[in-house]
Parts: sequence; structure tokens; C-alpha cells
Amino acid sequence: MSLGKAMIHARKQKSIARAASSGEPREHLAAQSGLILQMPVLVLNASYEPINICGARRALVLVLKGIARTEEEHGMTLHAQRSRMAMPSVIRLLEYRRIPYQTRALSRKNILLRDRNACQYCGVVLASGDLTLDHVIPRSRGGNSTWENLVACCHSCNRRKGNRMLHEIDDMALMREPRPFSLHTSRQIMRMLGRGDDRWRKYLFY
Ligand SMILES: [Zn+2]
Repeated sequence: MSLGKAMIHARKQKSIARAASSGEPREHLAAQSGLILQMPVLVLNASYEPINICGARRALVLVLKGIARTEEEHGMTLHAQRSRMAMPSVIRLLEYRRIPYQTRALSRKNILLRDRNACQYCGVVLASGDLTLDHVIPRSRGGNSTWENLVACCHSCNRRKGNRMLHEIDDMALMREPRPFSLHTSRQIMRMLGRGDDRWRKYLFY
């Protein structure tokens, strides 16, 4: 998940906490439980090694199916029909999974995740919906859709660059060289996201 998204999540989280304590109408709470289910949960391997971040909904499914257990709770409770469930903040897989050092699937979502939702030309951080993908070497000039040739880009930089190559533009450059998204990259992102959260911190900084 991107930093931008995580910050949005953090803001939502605050408003959810406020709503829960003020006893708002049921409908409102139901809408907010949708937000709670999207909150990021850190996934640990059976060895306690952090391997992923998933949404709370997916984390709950893994716990309910007995694939994972909750290591840290979020401090919030989800009310579903007549049952209550403590929302997880960190879960751990019960069986060890070998994580190959392969790169993730090339997708728009993963490119934005790698680039942390920041336009790679001007650095502005935007919501996923406000970013586009730019072919560094334009497709019209033989550029391919690869990890090395696709970057997150804001619409204004995308328009400005058009079909030109970077060396044809004076004041436009890549902030960093685009690379495939490896487990190493995602661990950096997990650390960045978990820096301020004690529940995540102890698993990420070891
Ligand atoms: Zn830009």
C-alpha cells in the first residue's frame, strides 16, 4: 500500500475512533465499518518475518479460516450481526510460507505502490485515481510496458512530457531509476508505514 493511501487511512481511522465513542446512528457506523475493513494490517510469516500488508477484511478472513492468528489487536471492535470481533493490526500465518525473491506482477497498482504514489517527475504525492502511468520511453518510440519503463506520473507532467524522450526535455528528469518491485522494496515500504505505529514497529525494526 502506498504512503498516500496510508495517510488517508490514518485520517479515516481518527474519524472512526471519534464516531465510535460518540455513539452515532447505526447507519453511520455501518458505513464506517466498511472503512475499518480497509485498514492496513501487517502480515507476518510463521517465523515473525514481515511479508506483506493486507486490508483488514482479508486479514479477518485469514484468521477466521485458521490460516493466521491475530498477534496485535487494533483496539477497535467490529460488530457484525450478533458477534463482535477484535480488529487485528498484525496477524501471523500459522504455517511457514516460502517467499521467493521474485518480483511482483507488473500492474498499475504495483507500479504506484513501488513509486509510493509520487509522480516520478515532480514528486507530488496523489491518490491512486489522480495518477497515471507514464512510459519513460514513449510507446510510439518503441518503449515497452516494463518495470523499467513505467513510472507513476501526475497528469500535468504526463501532458508536458507528451511523446518526447527525457533527453529532449530540459527541465524534466526521473527522481530515481525505475526498478522491478522486489521483496526488498516492499519491506522498505512496510518500514516506512510502520514507523509511527508501535504495534507494527517491533516486527519491522529488528
Ligand atoms: Zn508530476
